[in-house]
Amino acid sequence: MSFRPVGIETLAVHAGRSIDPATGALSEPIHLSTSFERPRGGGYAREFSYSRDDNPNRRALESCLAKLEGGKYALAFPSGLAALSALLHGLAPGDHILAPKDVYHGFIKVVDEVFRHSGIEISYADMGDSAATESALRPSTKFIWIETPSNPLLKVVDLQTLAHVAKNAGILTICDGTLSTPVLQRPLEYGIDMVLHSSTKLISGHGDVTGGVLVTAEENLLFDAARTAQKVGGMVPSPFDCWLTLRGIETLPLRARAQSAAAFEIARWLRHHRVVEKVLYPGLPGQPGHESACRQMSFFGNIVSLLVRGSASEAVRVAGATEIFTRATSIGSTHSLIEHRASVEGPRSAAPENLLRLSIGLESVEDLVADLSQALSQVGL
Ligand SMILES: *Cc1c(COP(=O)(O)O)cnc(C)c1O
Repeated sequence: MSFRPVGIETLAVHAGRSIDPATGALSEPIHLSTSFERPRGGGYAREFSYSRDDNPNRRALESCLAKLEGGKYALAFPSGLAALSALLHGLAPGDHILAPKDVYHGFIKVVDEVFRHSGIEISYADMGDSAATESALRPSTKFIWIETPSNPLLKVVDLQTLAHVAKNAGILTICDGTLSTPVLQRPLEYGIDMVLHSSTKLISGHGDVTGGVLVTAEENLLFDAARTAQKVGGMVPSPFDCWLTLRGIETLPLRARAQSAAAFEIARWLRHHRVVEKVLYPGLPGQPGHESACRQMSFFGNIVSLLVRGSASEAVRVAGATEIFTRATSIGSTHSLIEHRASVEGPRSAAPENLLRLSIGLESVEDLVADLSQALSQVGL
C-alpha cells in the first residue's frame, strides 16, 4: 500500500494481510507446513525455517495486533494466560510484581500455582488510589500489572496516572486490556509500556479459539524474555488458531461497538429493576473510575455485572432461568453468556456471592432484556 491507513476499521481488515503471491487468494492460506525450504546456497531467503520459530499465519496476526494497538511488536500465544506465563519467565527469584486487588482470578492462579517455586513476589494495591499504589512499590518491583476495566468488578483505573507513577520509579507498566480490546482503549497512548489481551474473548469474538497477545511500545527485557518463551520454549498458537483470530478481527470494530452499545442499554435498564441491588458497568456514573473511563475509553465494553438482591441462591436462580443467555464461562463471543462468578472462582474470589456477570453478544437487545426480565422475575422479593 502506498498510503498509510489510519482508521482502525481499515487496519482490522488489512493490517498484516497480503494477497497470496502464488494464487492471488485474498484470504490468507493456512500454512500447516512445519518446515520451510532453504535455498541451495543456505540462509533463509524467505525468512521462515521452522513453524515453532515463526509461521506466516502467526506473523500476520502479530503484525495486525501490533498495528491495532499502536505498538512496535506483538507476540501471539495459545491463550491469554500463556502470554502471562511467557512474561513471568523473564523474572528472577526475589523480583516483585504489584497487581490490583481485584485482579482477574486466573492471574493469581498462574503466579501461585504455576510459578510457585519461582521465588517471584507479588502484592496487591488499590490502583484507583495512586498514592497507595506508589507506596506499595518496592526496590525489587519489576512491573505494575494493571487491569482495566477489571473482570468481573468492572473497576476502571486511570492509565495516564499509573503510567506516570511507574515512570517516576523507573518501573514498567503492563495493562491487561482484555475487556476493552484496542478498539475501545489503547493503553500505549497513555504511556503504558505493554498490553496483554486474552484474544479468546472479544478480539477473536466468536467463542471458537483460545489465544493471547502481548504488545509492546518498545523493545525491553521482559518482552524479549516472552519472545524467547514463545519461540524457544514453544508457547505457540497453531496456524489455524492464528487464522481464526485474524478472521474474527475483521469485524472487531463493529462487534466491539455494537456489543458495547447493547451492554450500556442493558446496564441502564437493570439499574431500575427491583431485584437488582447494584449494577457494575464502567459507563455508569458512580462506578469506580467512571471519569477515567470517559477519558480513556471510546465505548464502555460488553461486560455488565449485577448484584442480585439476596444471596448466592437468588443469583443462581436467576442464572438458572435464562433462555437466551447461556450459562457458560468466558466473555466476548457472539452469544450472550451469564455466569455466577463466585462459584467459578472459588473461595478466594473477590466477587460478591450475589454477583452475576453478563457478556453481551450480538442478539437483539429487546430479546436480551425480555430474557433478563423473565429470569429476574423468578426472585420474588
Ligand atoms: C479470560 C481472561 C484472561 C485469560 O485468558 P485465557 O485466554 O482464558 O487464558 C486474562 N485476563 C482477563 C481479564 C480475562 O478475562
